[in-house]
Amino acid sequence: MTSQLEAGRRPEPLIFEMSSPGRIAYSLPALDVPDRPVEECLPAGALRRTAPELPEVSEVDVVRHFTRLSQIQHGVDIGFYPLGSCTMKYNPKVNEDMASLPGLAGVHPYFPEELVQGALELLYRMERYLCEIGGVSRVSLQPAAGAHGELTGLLMFRAYHADRGENRTRILIPDSAHGTNPASAIVCGYQTVEVPSDHRGGVDIEALKRLMGPDVAGLMLTNPNTLGLFDENMATVAEIVHSQGGLLYYDGANANAIMGIARPGDTGFDVVHFNLHKTFATPHGGGGPGSGPVGAVAKLEPYLPAPLVDADGDRYRLAYDRPRSIGRVKSFYGNFLVVVKAYAYIRSMGAEGLLRVSEDAVLNANYLMRKLAEHFHLPYDRHCKHECVVSGVWQKDRHGVRTLDMAKRLLDYGFHAPTIYFPLIVPECLMVEPTETESRQTLDAFAGTMAHIAGEAESDPDLVKGAPHTTPVKRLDEALAARKPNLRWRPE
Ligand SMILES: *Cc1c(COP(=O)(O)O)cnc(C)c1O
Repeated sequence: MTSQLEAGRRPEPLIFEMSSPGRIAYSLPALDVPDRPVEECLPAGALRRTAPELPEVSEVDVVRHFTRLSQIQHGVDIGFYPLGSCTMKYNPKVNEDMASLPGLAGVHPYFPEELVQGALELLYRMERYLCEIGGVSRVSLQPAAGAHGELTGLLMFRAYHADRGENRTRILIPDSAHGTNPASAIVCGYQTVEVPSDHRGGVDIEALKRLMGPDVAGLMLTNPNTLGLFDENMATVAEIVHSQGGLLYYDGANANAIMGIARPGDTGFDVVHFNLHKTFATPHGGGGPGSGPVGAVAKLEPYLPAPLVDADGDRYRLAYDRPRSIGRVKSFYGNFLVVVKAYAYIRSMGAEGLLRVSEDAVLNANYLMRKLAEHFHLPYDRHCKHECVVSGVWQKDRHGVRTLDMAKRLLDYGFHAPTIYFPLIVPECLMVEPTETESRQTLDAFAGTMAHIAGEAESDPDLVKGAPHTTPVKRLDEALAARKPNLRWRPE
């Protein structure tokens, strides 16, 4: 690791390196049972031959070590986190309180239905809310993330067409799509076909007409798309795909722009996923649990994963009797506590609150877009929705400073960088998603810092190219860190 750590500051020691023989972090009361040798208590095969290599540290060592580590992380509770497409929104703490209620946190998935009526009712109600928000007739809460929802939805497409005796092999995906869309289609056994974008950033209608055919199972789309732009031709897109027997999949990752304003089910989509961990304020990042519920309009409903939660009067039950279902896609009820947090969020915001979330998210993004456009190239000059895309081509062409360099320089000023180099169709792009909770002061501070960095790119390009200068580690080999993470300590 040390070769990667060309540190601006001293790298944090590992807790193993702080170890001092004999130092302990606990004190126990005197034993009041006979002290028997371990060999008498455990079978020989269960005993290890050598003691484990554990760090020997005091309580204060442990507390300081982990508190220090927590302080060198960036998170939405520390500062602005405008990572486009990811909706890194603030997570109100009341949601965490609800998810820690013993009656919810302590539910065991093997409890009989009579003992978990409250949990089932919560799932049932959550489904109704998501149906209302998405304009769909039923929702499965099983999928564990957006990408998992995509796979679920495409398996439903396949089952739907198979029921009609059709073998459709291709899925259309716009060139602005998130990488998980083609990946899910391939995992599902489809071939992918890229649909180009038009000059306004939407689906190129003429190209779509050319590419659509009887072998196409459907189109995957996010709207607003990853440029943060709303596709105004949605009705035409739906007509072209449906008229030839294709289906429409809504990638709901950008739903933060449309809550209470537009419903995917009303605009022609047949299957919809939500990212609860993006739109509905459950924390994410670092690979933690997510939730990607999938909704379907009536004609696709029979294929949803089983079981769903049904109600008979005020009794709730898990309904497995779904003969055309694609089956189960996740054990038990999905990531239940993530659903609880999103449920608490929806209940505490209310319908008006969710509408206001989307309005404020869109307002913030447009405010920021106009400020950034004073110093950066704006590839699509039109109102954006909840995120905006600008480009660092001017800085690259004039000063040899790349978007990557400017993103790294932002870290020196205490901001998390926006998403960069995505969507793929905008060279040197920066995708900025401020979210609804950020104040005007924060947006001004960020825009001001970006303007300052644009100035540095001109006056002192090497300063920017060498960034970050103040973080505990400088530029990591990101491919190596992702592909071959070195996370284990081994004794010398
Ligand atoms: C995040 C995202 C996904 C994938 O969702 P996960 O929950 O991360 O699996 C798909 N599409 C878009 C546009 C996204 O931003």
